[in-house]
Amino acid sequence: EAKKIGRNKVFYFTEHLNEKLSRRIALENDLRSALTNQEMFIEFQPQVELSSEKVNAAEALIRWEHKEFGLISPGEFIEIAEKTGDIVKIGQWIIEKCCEYLRTHQDKMKDFTIAINISPYQLNHRNFSKHFDDILKTNGISTNNIEIEITESLMMENMERNINKLEELTSKGIKIAVDDFGTGYSSLSYLLKLPISKIKIDKSFINALEESEESKMIVRTIIDMSHNLGYKVIAEGVETLEQLEFLKNHNCDQIQGYYYSKPIKMQKLLNQYLNE
Ligand code: C2E
Ligand code: MG
Ligand code: MG
Ligand code: MG
Repeated sequence: EAKKIGRNKVFYFTEHLNEKLSRRIALENDLRSALTNQEMFIEFQPQVELSSEKVNAAEALIRWEHKEFGLISPGEFIEIAEKTGDIVKIGQWIIEKCCEYLRTHQDKMKDFTIAINISPYQLNHRNFSKHFDDILKTNGISTNNIEIEITESLMMENMERNINKLEELTSKGIKIAVDDFGTGYSSLSYLLKLPISKIKIDKSFINALEESEESKMIVRTIIDMSHNLGYKVIAEGVETLEQLEFLKNHNCDQIQGYYYSKPIKMQKLLNQYLNE
């Protein structure tokens, strides 16, 4: 009897593993044609400037509607796209789409910023900076309308190389934000070498604000430090009024999160927040 159970366990385990593995393999294969099949789209999450209480920016977040598996989160497929190299093409498409939106709605979006997540694989691709430049020029977009987000942990890998790449972008006027700040264990001296203009406090700290004094202290310290270094600060993952009040009281510049709005389609963003 015991033997039988053991065998079933092994069976279950390998079945489960096979399922995960075959999904992964399917995603790897299907990524290649996801763009041409028009399975990808972008949502925008409003970023609110606290001093004016206005939505003055939005983060572009990619979505993949897979024909078999349904909606797949970027948390799952971006990593795969980095392995297969598809991230370069996908990343370029995102920049193109965002610039297209900015051009089409330039009357409403003149002073609006779109924040675009950039993978270091994309950043380190040969012609990244030139392609970026071309897209901006083709659409007649000012670099003021674009911000780039790079996660802290990934920025810290390959520091020297990344600094050069980032400087190429900032020399053109593109602003850079450090995403998921506080999770990457970067040292201050490293941070100071980077040509950044904004710090984005990771949502894990915002999430913990109500539960621990320690996280309050951490968030306060990040805000003060950033301001002392001349950076703007935005908090991500703001879900409650209490969190919002805390951030407002401690002079955080912007907030983003479900409390204010989930990521939404461009049309809705225009209708709801850029309609004056
Ligand atoms: P991220 O850049 O840190 O984006 C924030 C994530 O938190 C988004 O998840 C967003 O939908 C989610 N979020 C926003 N507000 C809240 C909130 O109040 N509570 C909670 N719990 N979550 C909130 P999403 O869209 O699933 O993206 C996950 C990650 O995938 C992003 O993290 C980013 O690293 C990556 N990603 C998304 N779009 C792109 C892209 O176009 N290019 C690249 N390279 N990476 C992307
Ligand atoms: Mg981001
Ligand atoms: Mg983030
Ligand atoms: Mg994050």
